[in-house]
Amino acid sequence: MSTPLIELCDIRKAYGGIDSPKVEVLRGIDLRIHPGEFVAIVGASGSGKSTLMNILGCLDRPSSGQYRFAGRDVAALDSDELAWLRREAFGFVFQGYHLIASASARENVEMPAIYAGTPPAARHARALALLERLGLASRTGNRPHQLSGGQQQRVSIARALMNGGHIILADEPTGALDSHSGAEVMSLLDELASQGHVIILITHDREVAARARRVIEVRDGEVVGDSASVQPVLQPVQQLQAGELRQRLDRGATLRGAWKGELLEALQAAWRLMWINRFRTALTLLGIVIGVASVVVMLAVGEGSKRQVMAQMAAFGSNILYLNGKHATAREPAGIVTLDDVAAIGELPQVRHVMPVIGGKLMVRQGNNSQPFYVGGNNTWFPEVFNWPVVHGSFYSEADEASGAAVAVIGQKVRSKMFGEHRDPLGQYLLIGNVPFQVIGVLAGKGASSGSEDSDERIVVPYWAAAIRLFGGRDPEYVAIAAHDSGRVDETEAAIDRLLRQRHQGKHDFELTNDAALIQAEARTQNSLSLMLGAIAAISLLVGGIGVMNIMLMTVRERTREIGIRMATGARQRDILRQFLSEAVLLSMLGGVTGIVLALCIGGGLLLAGISVAFTPAAILGAFTCAVLTGVVFGFMPARKAARLDPVKALTSE
Ligand code: ADP
Ligand code: MG
Repeated sequence: MSTPLIELCDIRKAYGGIDSPKVEVLRGIDLRIHPGEFVAIVGASGSGKSTLMNILGCLDRPSSGQYRFAGRDVAALDSDELAWLRREAFGFVFQGYHLIASASARENVEMPAIYAGTPPAARHARALALLERLGLASRTGNRPHQLSGGQQQRVSIARALMNGGHIILADEPTGALDSHSGAEVMSLLDELASQGHVIILITHDREVAARARRVIEVRDGEVVGDSASVQPVLQPVQQLQAGELRQRLDRGATLRGAWKGELLEALQAAWRLMWINRFRTALTLLGIVIGVASVVVMLAVGEGSKRQVMAQMAAFGSNILYLNGKHATAREPAGIVTLDDVAAIGELPQVRHVMPVIGGKLMVRQGNNSQPFYVGGNNTWFPEVFNWPVVHGSFYSEADEASGAAVAVIGQKVRSKMFGEHRDPLGQYLLIGNVPFQVIGVLAGKGASSGSEDSDERIVVPYWAAAIRLFGGRDPEYVAIAAHDSGRVDETEAAIDRLLRQRHQGKHDFELTNDAALIQAEARTQNSLSLMLGAIAAISLLVGGIGVMNIMLMTVRERTREIGIRMATGARQRDILRQFLSEAVLLSMLGGVTGIVLALCIGGGLLLAGISVAFTPAAILGAFTCAVLTGVVFGFMPARKAARLDPVKALTSE
C-alpha cells in the first residue's frame, strides 16, 4: 500500500493543568488516512472530534504523540511550513462557516490564493469559476451577511478548494444548516470525494457519517471503531499521491508569496474596514490630522516671517551702519557727529558711501490737503545707500545739493496721498513746513515697513535745504554709512569706531548700529518661537500616533477571529503582520494627507488675513513622513500581537 497521507501515532491532547484541572481530551489516537479516502469521524458531542480535526489541520499541536504528514514529522515543521500545509494541502470547512464578514463572497474565496501568491487575474477567474460551480454565480459580490447559511457554507467550500483542497477537513459542515441545504453540502462533498479529494468529515450524526466510505468512531478521546479494515479503499485516478505532496512541501514552503498582491489585498482590506468604521476612523485620525496640520502651519508661519525679515534686509541693505551722537555719561551733553566727522568717515577705505541725514515729521500741504510726513535731508547718495531708485522724474543733482535748492523727491505713498493716482506730481509744489518745494521725482515703492513707519511715506530733500530751510541746524541727526562689503560690516564698524574715538578725544559719545544685526536678532527670536510651536505640534502628532495604536489594538481584539480564519487559510505570521501594519500606515497616511490639506487651507486663510506664510516642500514632506512613521511605530505592536496569535485560539475566540 502507498504511504499514508496522514499518520497519527498515540496522539494525546490535554487542556488545563496549571490553574485549572487537567482534562485529557484525546487519549492516544492512532489513525492512518490514505490518498483518495472519504472518512467520517463520528462521535458524541464533547468526544474530542474538533480537537482532533484542529490537530489534523495543523491549527493546533498535540500534547504528545507523533503526527506524520506524507511521511514528514509535523512537530519539526516551522510556522511557515505549517502555514504552507494549511494553504496548499488542506481546505477547511467549519460548522460556523468562518467567512470574513467585511469581504465579499469572491474575496473570501480568493484569500488562500492571495497567500499562495497567485496572480490577480488567475485568482479572480478561479474564484468565479468555483462559485459558479457551486451555484453561486449571481452572489459573488455579496458579503456573508447577505447570504443564507447554505450559501455561506458553499462559499467556504469554494474557499477550501481555491488552492486545490487536496484534503478537505469539514467539521460538522451541516450542523448549522436546514436539512435541504445540508443534503446539498453532503452531495457536494460526495462529488469532491469521487474526484479524488481526501475528505475528512467530522459529525455527530451517524446518518451523515454513513455517506462516507470509511467511518471512524471516537468516544471520550479514543478510537472505538474503524470500518477501514473491512472496506477496501477505491483509488480514483486523479488523486494526489502522498509523495508528490511531500515533494511540494519540501520545495514549496520556502517559496515566497507574491508580496505585491498581498500588499494590495492588505491595503484594500484596510480601506474597506476603515470605510465600514468611518466614524471611528475619522475620530482616531483627528489626532494625526491636527498634528500634521499644526506642524505644517507652524513651520510655514515661521518660514514666512523669516522670509519677510530677509526681504527687509534686502530692501534696506544689510551693509548699512547708522551713526548718531550719544551721552557718554549721564552728566555730559550728547555728543555731536559733525560734518567734518562725516567727511573723515568718507575717507575710510572700508566705506563706500557716507550720507548725513537731518530729518523729522513735518506737516505737508498741497491746496487744502495737509498731512504729516517724514521729511529727510540727504545728500545725493540716497538712491545708492538705500538701494532706492527714482522711477519717475529724477533725483536732485550735486548742484541742487550744494545750493540747498528747494526741490523734493517723494515716496509712493506721499504721491498717492497728496496727488491721487492720476495727477502727475512732477513740477507741482508742496508746502513743507510753509516752505514751498518743487517735486522733481518719485521714488520706487519699497513696500517695507517697520512698526508704524511706512517707508513709502517719505520726502527726500537736499541736505542743505533741509538743514537751513526746514530744521535750522548744521549737524546731521544721524549718519548712514554704506560699507563696501556686506560680509565685512563688523570690520567697517570697528574702523569707524576707532576713527571717531580719535576725533572725539577718546570719548565714546556716539553710537553705531547696524540694521542687519537688529533684523537678525529679530529673526532669531522668531525662530525660537516657531521651534517651540513646532515642538507643541510634534506632541500632538505623538498623541495622534497613540490614537492609531489604540484603534489598532481594538481592531486586533475585534478581529481575532478574522486573524484565525486568515491563518486557517494559510496566512503566515508575516502576512498578518503586513496586513495590520499596512492598515496602520494607510490610516496615518490618510491622516497625513488630510492634515496637509487642512494646513494649506489654514495657510490660505492666514495669507488673506495678511500674515506671511511660506509652505516649503521639505516641511510638508517632513510632517507627512513623521505621520507615516508614527503609524508604523505605533502600529507595529498591535500588528505583532495579531501575528503571534495561536490559530486555534484566534479561530475559536468570540
Ligand atoms: P467535539 O468537537 O467532539 O464536540 P471538542 O473537541 O470540541 O469536542 O471538545 C472536546 C472536549 O475538550 C470538550 O469536553 C471540551 O470541553 C474540551 N475542550 C475543548 N477545547 C478546550 C480548551 N481550549 N480548553 C479546555 N477544554 C477544551
Ligand atoms: Mg466539535
